[in-house]
Amino acid sequence: MRIAVLGAGVCGLVAAHRLARAGHAVDVYERWPGLGGQAATLDVGGGHRLERYYHHLFTSDRHIADLFAELGMPDAIEWRPSSVAFFARGELHPFVTPLDLLRFRPLSPLARLRMGAAVLALQRFAGDRAPYERITARAWIERRMGRQAWDEVWGPLLRGKFGERADAIAMVWLWSKLRLRRSVKGEDMRQERLGYPRDSWEPLFAALARSVTDAGGRVLCDHPAARVSRAGSGFAVHAGVPGSFRRGHDPRAFSAGPEETYDRVLATVPNDVFEALLDPGLRAEVGEEYLERARGIEYFAALCLLLEIDRRFSPYYWTNVADRALPFVGVIEHTNFVEPERYGGRRFLYVANYLPHGHELLELDAGALLDRYEPGLRAVNPAFSRDWVKRSWLHVEPAAQPIVTVGYADRIPPLRTPAPGLVLANTTQVYPEDRGTNYAVRLGEQAGRTILDCAPLAATR
Ligand SMILES: Cc1cc2nc3c(=O)[nH]c(=O)nc-3n(C[C@H](O)[C@H](O)[C@H](O)COP(=O)(O)OP(=O)(O)OC[C@H]3O[C@@H](n4cnc5c(N)ncnc54)[C@H](O)[C@@H]3O)c2cc1C
Repeated sequence: MRIAVLGAGVCGLVAAHRLARAGHAVDVYERWPGLGGQAATLDVGGGHRLERYYHHLFTSDRHIADLFAELGMPDAIEWRPSSVAFFARGELHPFVTPLDLLRFRPLSPLARLRMGAAVLALQRFAGDRAPYERITARAWIERRMGRQAWDEVWGPLLRGKFGERADAIAMVWLWSKLRLRRSVKGEDMRQERLGYPRDSWEPLFAALARSVTDAGGRVLCDHPAARVSRAGSGFAVHAGVPGSFRRGHDPRAFSAGPEETYDRVLATVPNDVFEALLDPGLRAEVGEEYLERARGIEYFAALCLLLEIDRRFSPYYWTNVADRALPFVGVIEHTNFVEPERYGGRRFLYVANYLPHGHELLELDAGALLDRYEPGLRAVNPAFSRDWVKRSWLHVEPAAQPIVTVGYADRIPPLRTPAPGLVLANTTQVYPEDRGTNYAVRLGEQAGRTILDCAPLAATR
């Protein structure tokens, strides 16, 4: 079969790799001039690459570890100690070991014990996720850990990811994070270890793309899909001209280039992009019910400022900012995780934010954003000065974080759309786990199988 895969993020590349290896003719269309989607890297100079958005792996991320091994890179992931802190009430509080929780002064001693016991019980005994799908994290935490635990710890953490929607997030989102991601056994009990692939995520993308091209397929970066329509029992994909990414994310703004026909199409783009790609006939085939589901899932945008700094900013890799007066939600010091020597002695710090679409900070350039962030950075480290910053890069990802509210599972659009031969696979379908590259690998495998199982149009008539 001729198969078009839309998107060269992890999900699209994995699906394309599987389909090409199974003997199909695969073309991957990608809007951006590089591979990797949300996990894409940039050249920070000196031959070093770094993700546009901070990335690490958890020890539970087996799908991606297996993929590295399969592609001949069994030792690519290096496991390193992580260090986490909370910035609350004007101070940095370490949050690395269970003992740190017991010493966490913003909570009363009783609240600390109650919170520790509730987390442990969840990790050890709460095997069935169903009860957690029907309640918000806030309601569950206030009931089981107390109001203080929400106000001082979990509320700020969830606000860090979901802003003003934090109160509406379903407990299942936190359940999966606490149960699936954090190992509670052995050495990891004392200090969490996180993974980072030697030389960034880029070698993984390159190996996947090579696998597709070696099998006779094509990986077309800077060649977005501009429109998809029905052509006979298959599809026509109308490509946008190179440089279309400068016109934003909406494919209706791209100037249409050449058109090619395929038996099947796998779209790995966000829901709104998927809908915008469909021509009126195909849109009618997909139908309002499916599109309504897809529209019903809200995304928050990630706004991520990457700074090269000339000295260490804090002693921690990951600092959760629990103080609402600060205009960002996290400070991630990559070179407190991977040593600066890897980058010729250079140091890198991400300043993280998740925001609703239309937020004023999303309109700023890197310099203006740093002006807004500077007092907050100084609140975390009073010595911080603008002179520390040698270079900066700013990236915005509009469809970064699906908002998982109560009843989310009922709204997830199935991979197989009502249009025979057309499959949608994106981060909104990663559930109950929080989206991540590991689950994008799993989804890509699943999407590849779904594409092959689809009955062609003729067989459904
Ligand atoms: C701030 C941030 C931090 C993160 N941290 C981590 C982490 O620490 N660890 C981790 O494992 N994961 C992390 N993730 C999540 C992880 O990066 C994603 O879950 C994963 O990369 C999603 O892969 P995907 O292929 O499903 O989607 P995407 O990566 O979104 O891929 C979709 C692709 O479609 C392309 N596209 C869009 N429109 C078109 C079009 N018209 N035609 C063709 N192509 C198009 C896009 O350019 C993109 O390449 C993070 C994400 C963000 C935003």
